[in-house]
Amino acid sequence: MENSDIIIGGDTAGIEWRVPVYRFKGSDKAAPSVYIQAALHANELPGTALLHFLLERLCKADAEGAIRGDITVIPQANPIGLAQFHFGEMEGRFDLGSRTNFNRDYPLIALAEREALLENFSRRSAADRLKRTLLHTALGHDLMLDLHCDDESLQYAYIDDAFWPEAADLAAALDMRAVFLSDGESTAFEEAVGFAFKHQGGEKLTSVPGRLAVTVELRGRRDVYPDMAKRDADGLWDFLAGRGVVIDPAHAAKAYSGPAIPLDNIEMVRAPEPGTVLFHRDIGDNVKAGDLLATLITRPGAPDGTIDVTAAHDGLIATRTSARYARRGDDLMKIACHEATRKDREPGTLED
Ligand SMILES: [Zn+2]
Repeated sequence: MENSDIIIGGDTAGIEWRVPVYRFKGSDKAAPSVYIQAALHANELPGTALLHFLLERLCKADAEGAIRGDITVIPQANPIGLAQFHFGEMEGRFDLGSRTNFNRDYPLIALAEREALLENFSRRSAADRLKRTLLHTALGHDLMLDLHCDDESLQYAYIDDAFWPEAADLAAALDMRAVFLSDGESTAFEEAVGFAFKHQGGEKLTSVPGRLAVTVELRGRRDVYPDMAKRDADGLWDFLAGRGVVIDPAHAAKAYSGPAIPLDNIEMVRAPEPGTVLFHRDIGDNVKAGDLLATLITRPGAPDGTIDVTAAHDGLIATRTSARYARRGDDLMKIACHEATRKDREPGTLED
């Protein structure tokens, strides 16, 4: 195992960001190579905890000669976001200097154009250089896993159609409750990697066997516990064993039995008016159209000062906001429905 730092010079004098990288050399050139990163949104730490325990296992495997494919692990990908503490809270999702999301604005390029990511490098901002360095590193591998989490959430993932159903092994290994089939049209990290994998020269590929780009949502932001992280690390190990990246004679393949849902079937439940949120239903609940999901106290103390928010379709509550005050239009829940919930959605991610 080789441990080094990616070094990103800051945008002001005297600042330098360091991103620790762990690289394992595989024994078999024919085995798939894998890139795994966590906490690109710096305040999403379940993946960092997972990778801490996975790295422990990989180091042991390395000593035993059980690593077949090259593995690169970046357990804490975003030191810039990590340092953005203001008034006691971390802003890990958006770069404060540019107000851009750390998981958007990745260049959509063909795989052959990988080196162009590093052109005019010194003239780019630190956040942009960080993004391009991570993407450039990821594109040197066959499989890419970007570990995120939602707010309050079940275990689920965004997976492009091009990698499905081959990626059902990952969904099974991590005990996912749902898979959202994304359309690969935004500029998220996973979609930029997926875009490059689908554009390997010539026609755009609709299926890319042996490749993977996925955003894993490891439950909610507060779901950072030792047992959970170790269980997820074991799950990811199982996935790597199944793909032949590591050798584990005890590996047994599991089947994924959860739903795989197009993004058009995700109902984004939004607050119709601002108010204090009283939830009646929780993540993991199956709901029917018309069921009461939440009451918003819009005018506290007034006899008619509340409004009800109900489900528009039957489905599974996958995520819920942890905020208990909603502004007008804020997302309250994502419900994975059995049918399309809207036809006007632009392809790409559900959230900004
Ligand atoms: Zn995220």
